[in-house]
Amino acid sequence: MDVETTGLDGERDRIIEIFMLSLGKNGEVAQYETLINPQRPLPEEITQITGLTDAELKDAPVEAAVAPEIREFIGLGTPVGHNLPFDLRFLNAMFRRNNLLELGEGGIDTLTISRQLFPKLAIYPGGGGSHRLSNLMYHFGLQDAYANAHRAREDVMLLVEVFRHLQDYAAGSRAFNYPDALIYGCPTCGSAMHVTEDNGGSVLVCKNQPSCQVRLVV
Ligand SMILES: [Zn+2]
Repeated sequence: MDVETTGLDGERDRIIEIFMLSLGKNGEVAQYETLINPQRPLPEEITQITGLTDAELKDAPVEAAVAPEIREFIGLGTPVGHNLPFDLRFLNAMFRRNNLLELGEGGIDTLTISRQLFPKLAIYPGGGGSHRLSNLMYHFGLQDAYANAHRAREDVMLLVEVFRHLQDYAAGSRAFNYPDALIYGCPTCGSAMHVTEDNGGSVLVCKNQPSCQVRLVV
């Protein structure tokens, strides 16, 4: 699942878009998607991040109209999200306002999994930060097929692929053979490395430069 919101405050801000993809044990796939009219103007920075505008949201359903079907879609499923507590805060606040059963704290947070598997994951050009969904997209080489568009559907499609790659890595797949510094950071100071290109090859440069000058050709 992924939600786009009017801001960062789970109680005061509102969901403006949600996309959920349900993957069943036997391969059944279902999806749910809607825009939601937040009944307030969008902050300019939200329009910049998501590309969504007041005009696009004014004819969307209000949350009271869709909250019951969102709750029903989730049902007893296990929520999966990148920084899942963020999504759950907004969803549960919406469910409370609409007298619906809240979700528990259970679920699978790919951000937490990424931090555990790749403690100091190197930061790729355009990645934004070690454990950002966009950085995991570059790390797993998904950037040609996916985008971290900050729109719910695109981000969920990317999330599904990232989650599969995290699972494969955690299962010890031989397909992954990363240099230690890419996953555990600078061997001298422990900071994450930046991935840079140099003469057609990849070079890891310590994020802690100039005080740490470690550069590794990988
Ligand atoms: Zn260093």
